[in-house]
Amino acid sequence: MAADDDQGGEDYLFKIVLIGDSAVGKSNLLSRFARNEFDNNSKATIGVEFQTQVVEIDGKEIKAQIWDTAGQERFRAVTSAYYRGAVGALIVYDISRRTSFDSVKRWLDELGGHCDTATIRMLVGNKCDLENIRDVHVGEGKYLAEEEGLFFMETSALDSTNVRTAFELVVREIYNNVSRKAL
Ligand code: GDP
Ligand code: MG
Repeated sequence: MAADDDQGGEDYLFKIVLIGDSAVGKSNLLSRFARNEFDNNSKATIGVEFQTQVVEIDGKEIKAQIWDTAGQERFRAVTSAYYRGAVGALIVYDISRRTSFDSVKRWLDELGGHCDTATIRMLVGNKCDLENIRDVHVGEGKYLAEEEGLFFMETSALDSTNVRTAFELVVREIYNNVSRKAL
């Protein structure tokens, strides 16, 4: 007999990429989500890395394979292999560093060159714990997201604000997309 847990049993594996300028907190968002860890001195290691995290949606276990640039972005050399097959993307900036917000359009262009419009995109303003040195108003993030058709959230990998919520929302939206197509 087949195991009971085969019932209704499609397996979902969604590739999601993290993009954005160096030092905005991509690696820490991922380590906070995957391992509930934060690292103050995270050094960018070179080479692509990903972590697989199981998210439960509507009673289904969905594997989110989340890719981290691991430092490639410093050399403006994020490869097409990095983007290949991605069905979700988090475009991250640092709310205390305006230049990282200004770069968002460039990241969106690059993403658009590699992924089709069905890719779920979320704009993420990270480091929202740094309210005292905020350089990008929350309204600016919201406005840009609306203009570009992105989901939007401010997060803090340091104090965990919205980290799980952001990743899970992206996974849910991807799942909704896929199940709509299957109808
Ligand atoms: P990446 O280059 O985008 O992967 O950024 P990292 O995750 O390596 O983080 C860069 C620096 O920002 C590190 O010193 C982190 O400790 C710090 N950092 C990351 N996320 C946060 C956050 O939410 N709040 C604060 N205050 N610092 C953060
Ligand atoms: Mg990194």
